[in-house]
Parts: sequence; C-alpha cells; structure tokens
Amino acid sequence: MNCPSKVYLIGAGPGDPELLTLKAARLLQAADIIFHDALANPRILDLARPAAQRVDVGKRGGCVSTPQLSIQAQMINAARQGLQVVRLKGGDPFIFGRGGEECMALKAAAIAYEIVPGITSGMAAAAYAGVPLTYRAVSQSVLLVTGHEAPEAAPVDWRRMAGAADTLVIYMGVERVEKIRDGLLAGGLAGSTPALAVEWATLRQHEVHSTLADLPADIARAGLKSPAILIIGAIVEMSAVLSWRPSAPTALPQAACL
Ligand code: SAH
Repeated sequence: MNCPSKVYLIGAGPGDPELLTLKAARLLQAADIIFHDALANPRILDLARPAAQRVDVGKRGGCVSTPQLSIQAQMINAARQGLQVVRLKGGDPFIFGRGGEECMALKAAAIAYEIVPGITSGMAAAAYAGVPLTYRAVSQSVLLVTGHEAPEAAPVDWRRMAGAADTLVIYMGVERVEKIRDGLLAGGLAGSTPALAVEWATLRQHEVHSTLADLPADIARAGLKSPAILIIGAIVEMSAVLSWRPSAPTALPQAACL
C-alpha cells in the first residue's frame, strides 16, 4: 500500500491569476490531482502539469455541484493512493470556503494537510474599488459576514450586525440584499450610509456605488449577480477619491456555468 500523502488546501485568490501566492503556484505545479471550485479561475489550472488530473467539484447558479461529503471522500481516497492532492478554492480556504469542514474530515481520516491562504474576495473587491477597509477615524473595525446562512445555522441577526463594526463586508449577499438592507436599517444604520456592490472582483470588477437604502434597487438596475461582495460603511465614500484601474484588463474565466 502507498504511504498516504498530504492534502494541500490552497486559496486561489479572487480571480486575477496574478494574485495567486508563489507557494500556491509551486504546489499546483507539483500536484497529481486537483479538486477545484467554480470560483477558482481556470487560468490558474494552466499552471498544473498537463498530466495532472483536474476534478471540477464546483457549482455556480443552477449547475450541479459535487456534494461536500463526496468531495471529502475523493480527496481522502486520492491521498491514500499516495497522490499529491491539491484542493483549490476561490479566495481564502478559511473564509466561507468550507476549508474548516474539509480539514475536519482529513483529520478524522488521519490524512495530513497544509493550508495555503489566499486573498479573500472581500478584501480584493475593496482594494480594487479604492476602499481602504481600515482607515484611522473612519473605519476602525471590519466585519466579514455571510448573507446566506447554512440551513443548520442560526440566521444572521442583521440588526445586531448594524452596530457590530464600522465596515461590513458581506459575502453571498446579493440575492438577499433587500432583507439585509431592511435588517441593517432596523438595527440603526442610516439609509444614507455609503454602500458598494462588486461583481467578479479583480476580473470584471463591476461596481455599483449606492447607499444602503438604494442598494437593492441599484443592484437590480445594474443587473449585478453572484459572485458579488457588498461593502457597507462610511469608508466606501473614499472610493470617489482613491479609485484606480489596473493597467491591463484580465480575462473572465471560461467556465460554462457561471
Ligand atoms: N472563500 C471565498 C468565498 C467563498 S463563498 C473567498 O475567500 O473569497 C462565495 C462568495 O464569495 C460569493 O457568493 C461572493 O460573495 C464571494 N466571491 C468569491 N469570489 C468573488 C469575486 N471574484 N468577486 C466577488 N465576490 C466573490
């Protein structure tokens, strides 16, 4: 029997392949098998050896995804065969990426793992929009929160979130933006609070600048869809001064079902 190998849980970053870490690139080049998400830019997979097996376990809007337990079982199986296993996830594996659950499964199966952090999409969306998530006197605290709770989790208390930090960065929130807006208003945030939505951060970087009150209507008008990040707080206004554009446009991923 082969000696079980390690599983590398790698953050692919928000989309622009140049935002991948050097460590991620090195491990991808050495991989025998790569289990990748829909949000990991397929151009990043070009780094892998042609012989490396690529397994798409991702899902986007309406496409069928591989159930989480099956992904875990396949990773464990591959590691037990002694293959160099990479699990490539969009953004950072430990930010709303189920990296924790996968580590738990690997631990239970006595498979060693390493985690390679990636640039999370919330940070990247802000940076590319010219919104410094922290700024003395304006934003002393930042909260990352999901707009789409797991069925087994308690619903996010948006009233409480309203006062929990100066700046809110909301993942998976675009489809529930009305409910989020209403909860934050009920929690005491002003309707005039600056708000920003960013679709395909670092790639298309489609930005909708608005206020908390108008965000749902402005998102609908712009046709902005998932994957998108919502950023809410006074600091969002800074983008009017600090916005910038990358020198070369970056192509969108080729995935068929985005
Ligand atoms: N682990 C990922 C998050 C996965 S959850 C990370 O660290 O970024 C999926 C959600 O992440 C999407 O619904 C969206 O809110 C956000 N997201 C991921 N990639 C994105 C991108 N390129 N642009 C905007 N939002 C993105």
